[in-house]
Amino acid sequence: MTDTSPTADRMLAAYTTLRLGGPAGTVTTAVDTGEAIAAVRRATAGGRPLLVLAGGSNVVIGDAGFAGEVLVLRNRGVEVIAESAGEVVVRVASGEPWDTFVAYAVTRGWSGVECLSGIPGAAGSTPIQNVGAYGQEVAHTIAAVHAYDRIDDVQREMTPAECRFGYRSSVFKHNDRYLVTAVDFRLTREDLSSPIRYAELARQLGVEAGDRVPLELARETVLKLRAGKGMVLDPEDRDTWSVGSFFTNPVVSAAFFAELTAARGELPHWPGADGTVKIPAAWLIEHAGFPKGFAGAGVAISGKHTLALTNRGTGTTAALLELARTIRDGVRDRFGVELHPEPVLINCAL
Ligand SMILES: Cc1cc2nc3c(=O)[nH]c(=O)nc-3n(C[C@H](O)[C@H](O)[C@H](O)COP(=O)(O)OP(=O)(O)OC[C@H]3O[C@@H](n4cnc5c(N)ncnc54)[C@H](O)[C@@H]3O)c2cc1C
Repeated sequence: MTDTSPTADRMLAAYTTLRLGGPAGTVTTAVDTGEAIAAVRRATAGGRPLLVLAGGSNVVIGDAGFAGEVLVLRNRGVEVIAESAGEVVVRVASGEPWDTFVAYAVTRGWSGVECLSGIPGAAGSTPIQNVGAYGQEVAHTIAAVHAYDRIDDVQREMTPAECRFGYRSSVFKHNDRYLVTAVDFRLTREDLSSPIRYAELARQLGVEAGDRVPLELARETVLKLRAGKGMVLDPEDRDTWSVGSFFTNPVVSAAFFAELTAARGELPHWPGADGTVKIPAAWLIEHAGFPKGFAGAGVAISGKHTLALTNRGTGTTAALLELARTIRDGVRDRFGVELHPEPVLINCAL
């Protein structure tokens, strides 16, 4: 269904969790995969810019909006495509709400995504930035990604290696070649969670890292932890009018980290890949002088989490990015570390 109604009805703010973003040229809502592919083909053939949106929870859209075609994915479906005594492979349509699927998996006794409870958005968006939280990421359970390739005009079944998953990244991020149509997840059939890897979650559960807990308990505990940080969507709570974490955790070389601690003293960190060091962006932001609640014009750092930049109801994308720049520059001046945005910026820049 294509909507070319007056501009007010095409404001992209209505499609984003930040509730920010100007008008679209047209908005097409696809309720099945065939319709979605047809819309992408039409835009490609007409040479018109295309923006794919699902839950709108990881995009920052400029106040001028997006002059091209916006395709909103509402294709749904969850189907078991293979099963054995110990495993199940489930195909999830790209527009299926992610947390609905997680809740369903937990109820069915399918283990592997329970710690990703409460993440907003759609299932097909999870491979885009290799969604992760509380020690799990979708790269651990994705068996294949089904995608329509706009360049070769074919549908592909992509292996995890072809998806090139990294920390909050994949071949799909900042790349409009592919429309993800469905994702296959390989989950284990058991009533226990995968081993709890995240220290804060283990503490909250009263278990050791590496222990396993009933699936329901893992889900409930993650949801409780997330809600306390404003990381579960709640229309009444403006601390959740965000994109979740605005910045990724910076990854620096071991040599740079040694220099930093020599100059600034001990700071929290985790080992990264290949000898690198990951530093919590929230710690850097707070210690650069930006506490929770630090505000700009109609926008502010969440009162519950330093990494979430929020719209307080009267904000604009320009004001949000101004706040983000102030924070980024402050962290750079204090620590010499560059913060990078986690969401995809559309028709705007940091
Ligand atoms: C309160 C809150 C908490 C969050 N917590 C987390 C967290 O713990 N961990 C985490 O990793 N993220 C988190 N996020 C970020 C976000 O929820 C995830 O990245 C989510 O997967 C985005 O899904 P979406 O459907 O909203 O994507 P959208 O915002 O609609 O799209 C994001 C990007 O993916 C592209 N895209 C979306 N679907 C497709 C598709 N089918 N094919 C091709 N491209 C597509 C879009 O074009 C856009 O570039 C959080 C966000 C919020 C608001």
